[in-house]
Amino acid sequence: MKRREFVGGLAVAAGLTACGGDPGADHGNAAGSADASRQERHRWNMVTSWPPGLPGLGTGAEKFAADVERASAGRLTIKVFAGGELVPALEVFDAVSRGAAHIGHDPAYYHRGKVPAAQYFTCIPFGQNANEINAWVYYGGGLALWQELYADFNLLPFPIGQTGVQMAGWFNKEIRSVADLVGLKMRIPGLGGEVMQRAGVTQVTVPASEIFTSLQSGAIDAAEWVGPYNDVSLGLHRVARYYYYPGWHEPGPMIECIINKDAWNALPEDLQEIVKVCCRAANLDTQAEYTYGNAMALEQLSRDPNVEIRPLPDDVLALLKRISREVIEELSARDPWSARVQKSFDEFQARSIANQLISEQAFLNARSDRPRI
Ligand code: CA
Repeated sequence: MKRREFVGGLAVAAGLTACGGDPGADHGNAAGSADASRQERHRWNMVTSWPPGLPGLGTGAEKFAADVERASAGRLTIKVFAGGELVPALEVFDAVSRGAAHIGHDPAYYHRGKVPAAQYFTCIPFGQNANEINAWVYYGGGLALWQELYADFNLLPFPIGQTGVQMAGWFNKEIRSVADLVGLKMRIPGLGGEVMQRAGVTQVTVPASEIFTSLQSGAIDAAEWVGPYNDVSLGLHRVARYYYYPGWHEPGPMIECIINKDAWNALPEDLQEIVKVCCRAANLDTQAEYTYGNAMALEQLSRDPNVEIRPLPDDVLALLKRISREVIEELSARDPWSARVQKSFDEFQARSIANQLISEQAFLNARSDRPRI
């Protein structure tokens, strides 16, 4: 019902603008009709999960909207809403699916309760890094699987951003061994949260806007968010002392652009192409911004006397890796779609590891004689 209302509204809005120039009077043939569709103006609302102005993710959505508007010479304009402005931060998927917004910008794993296999299109613990997930999605069959998975929800997804490997998170006490995890209350979403839960942590999911106050009040003892660039912008270094790496649970998290299929089908082909190309541009740009921003913010944190940057102990990482495999296998056992996506994901990852070992990993090891921190 709501979807039909929304499509009707879109058609009226487009028609009003298109009729302004009376295209029928100038173009009485098929070519004219195509010209007319190229004069129509489309106005979309984009809902996101991000706090207002959040560097990288929030500003990435704004840049994407500006790119689309410029590339289309104003024929498609996208108004971006921060989390909670139009719909709650964690309800972007449902809002776009039912047509309450045309387009959304969020991580797929926020919807794991409804679409468990969606988690593969953000990241998997000990899974693919940023380079690998882009390779799998664009060249390894990932995007086709993802679009098939979302078709039942009247959604068309594309990658639109990438943070690169994240941090393990902020803790209010030292983690010296697996015993130190037990009893902690930690904000950590997705499969990573399920793994932590099995390691003895109480897992909670709160949107980014609530992490600072939850840590400050003691409602939670630990939280992962993204990495230095975003964590500093939320002020997390002011409410927790110990900052652990690596982000075993989020090695290359991809951000999704989800488009309501009725809104998509109402666009002429050239505007569809502009949206697709701008998604690819945003995916590249976001990763570059995080690579730069994380380096700058890490310098700041490493100079802060109230922050200790530490590696997770080997026994903790070994435990989390073992539990991660269990959680992933159980997910596939109970959800056929997850099994199908896992097969494709794992096949590429298994083949990629040898190449990563002798390229990125070998080079980075060769370049750095020792960790700087
Ligand atoms: Ca994260």
